[in-house]
Amino acid sequence: MNDLVIFGPPGAGKGTHADRLCRHFGWRHLSTGEVLRAEAAADTQLGRHVARLMAEGSLVGDDIVNQIIGKAIAETATPIVFDGYPRTLEQARMLDVLLGQAGRQISHVLSIEVPREELILRLEQRSEISNRADDNAATILHRLYEYETKSSHVIGYYRERGLVVPIDASGSIEATQARIRERLQEQRKIA
Ligand code: ADP
Repeated sequence: MNDLVIFGPPGAGKGTHADRLCRHFGWRHLSTGEVLRAEAAADTQLGRHVARLMAEGSLVGDDIVNQIIGKAIAETATPIVFDGYPRTLEQARMLDVLLGQAGRQISHVLSIEVPREELILRLEQRSEISNRADDNAATILHRLYEYETKSSHVIGYYRERGLVVPIDASGSIEATQARIRERLQEQRKIA
């Protein structure tokens, strides 16, 4: 089975595009951010730990996140679109192991590209309507820092294997979604 990664900085629109793709093709949208938000809502030691890290915009530990992914892979029979994962090289390596054990692999990594100034603008706008604890001015900059120092390396890991499909996402949601589907169609013709 072939799975997809949707990769990009906070505010790029990964969640929106993953959701639309999965509705259209009948795939599973797996957002680690969503699963972690549910975890953070629980009044447990783990929940409070996750909530604190997310509220400051820091990455949650690889062990916690890898466990979430392992469980999801084991219970999913359709293709999966991984959104917000992998975010570190360690997670990328672990994903290969977990998928390999299940006879699956990543076939494409959609790299959602938006200029930094546009990202900050979008995240600030979202903070006005969002009730996410991490959508506020201080945390936005810390999330971008986490992305630039830790997550941006993940793309090199996939580029070496020729899996990256760059997507210009500076325009509207509709235009970007159409571009993603076109690119996937082109790739499938070649593959
Ligand atoms: P965004 O991409 O806008 O930051 P997400 O919902 O993907 O939104 O992530 C929100 C937060 O959840 C992150 O800032 C981080 O604290 C946590 N998180 C999500 N995915 C991961 C991951 N793969 N590894 C570590 N932390 C994660």
